[in-house]
Amino acid sequence: MTQPPADAGVRRAVAPVICYPNDTLPRPDLALFAAAREGAHKVAEVVVPPREAACFHASAGQFFRITSVEGPQVGDLNLWNANDLSERFYSGKTRALHGTHVTTGEQLWSSFPHLRPMATIVQDTLDWYGIDEFGGSVHDVIGTRCDPYTGNLLGGVQYHHCCHSNLTRALADELGMPLAEAEGHVHDVLNVFMCTGFTRDTGQYFMKASPVRPGDYLEFFAEIDLLGALSACPGGDCSAEHTSDAAVCHPLLVELFQPKSGVLEDWQSPARNGYDGSHGR
Ligand SMILES: [Zn+2]
Repeated sequence: MTQPPADAGVRRAVAPVICYPNDTLPRPDLALFAAAREGAHKVAEVVVPPREAACFHASAGQFFRITSVEGPQVGDLNLWNANDLSERFYSGKTRALHGTHVTTGEQLWSSFPHLRPMATIVQDTLDWYGIDEFGGSVHDVIGTRCDPYTGNLLGGVQYHHCCHSNLTRALADELGMPLAEAEGHVHDVLNVFMCTGFTRDTGQYFMKASPVRPGDYLEFFAEIDLLGALSACPGGDCSAEHTSDAAVCHPLLVELFQPKSGVLEDWQSPARNGYDGSHGR
């Protein structure tokens, strides 16, 4: 271990600054979305079976709601531009802009060069949770998704119902694509309902039993035409383990809602990012 310098205490005492102050971030019109949601009617639903994933489509201007049914269950969400799979959810930049966990009013941002909101969170029945005494909170963008490679690395196992594999199979089936091609489109997720944080002493990623109960939901406004895939994580409520069939798992419900016609006539999907793409040449 390196000997600390004489001014170590002074260096550590420097106050942090926020990397991306978000006071210049374009904000969604939540009042407009609330008005649009008022008379919206349900147009479709998808039930995601335990330890499986399922796809759904949400057109720009529709709402989609993910609900816990039957018992506490965590979901791993992927989103793509339905017309261009190369534009997909970017959890790292969403984290940099909004923080480690997301809730009402915050947005899920897309990958470069698009970098625009794909979906806005309009309702979160777990918004009361806040940040607990362990530094844990709900709906994280810090985890990646449980996957069979890490399971094999750490445990030498061949397990096929990790969220990564569930999402891969669901996308392959939805688009009639070979598994290997679909796998390349699967990306880091929004961990819906998952309660996570980093330990203060070792900085390790932790999970704990989700506070979600049947009836709790997270609802989004689709900012662009979306293809979504949701996996009901084999970790169940993620109180103990994942990457096995040991945890008790439950289904998740995805419902789609269509606003009344006309309510959003002055609203438009966000434009792609304004950077000119020249990279200085
Ligand atoms: Zn998982």
